[in-house]
Amino acid sequence: MIQFNELGLAELILRAVSDEGYTTPTPIQAKVIPDMMNGRDILGTAQTGTGKTAAFVLPILERVAERIAGSHPRPAPKHAHALIVAPTRELTAQIADSIRTYGRHVRPSVAVIVGGLKPGPQIKAMARGVDIIVATPGRLLDHMSTGAIKLDQTALIVLDEADQMMDLGFLPAIRKIMARLPKERQVALLSATMPKQIRALANDFLKAPSEISVAPVAKPIEKI
Ligand code: AMP
Repeated sequence: MIQFNELGLAELILRAVSDEGYTTPTPIQAKVIPDMMNGRDILGTAQTGTGKTAAFVLPILERVAERIAGSHPRPAPKHAHALIVAPTRELTAQIADSIRTYGRHVRPSVAVIVGGLKPGPQIKAMARGVDIIVATPGRLLDHMSTGAIKLDQTALIVLDEADQMMDLGFLPAIRKIMARLPKERQVALLSATMPKQIRALANDFLKAPSEISVAPVAKPIEKI
């Protein structure tokens, strides 16, 4: 079985993973992490409890670690290098927690952009530009329309729980967001189920994706 330290992740990331007590990637992590690091688009069918969050967070942190090591410029004001879109405030909070946990040694800049909170602090958080935005679709679109957030330099995008975003009526917003991204970008789309509207979304916005489907698990994987 493959180990985390065989995936080519930066030492600063491996240390945080090991701090959590994880040695072996879950099946979705073993497939998605190398494919994302190779620049491939991802179409993943996976539910909560499969380790899907770390599967996309670790490759994003790898990109940030490379940026900090000096191989890429820092994000411009109001811009972000990576964007994670999720259906609910709760889920964005969980994803931001994972970024903090696995990113504790990389220390990326992160803005959480969600509805139900004052826009002012979010605009301020974006002013200098950030490594990663974690957002719900509606509020992200609001900030894009006022010019507080610009996505023309965002080359790495994750759509998490796409089927739930569809159920909440966010598909038109997702399409508008995708249309504002640069042509050269990498997209990972994750969904617990793969109804035909989500397949259509993938067909429209993903290029030759690596497809992975992991069986639902009965209960979340326990921490070692
Ligand atoms: P998720 O499917 O992303 O919601 O993750 C479910 C749970 O699995 C979380 O509590 C993670 O902390 C945990 N987890 C993630 N990756 C691993 C791993 N490689 N080994 C053990 N547990 C993990």
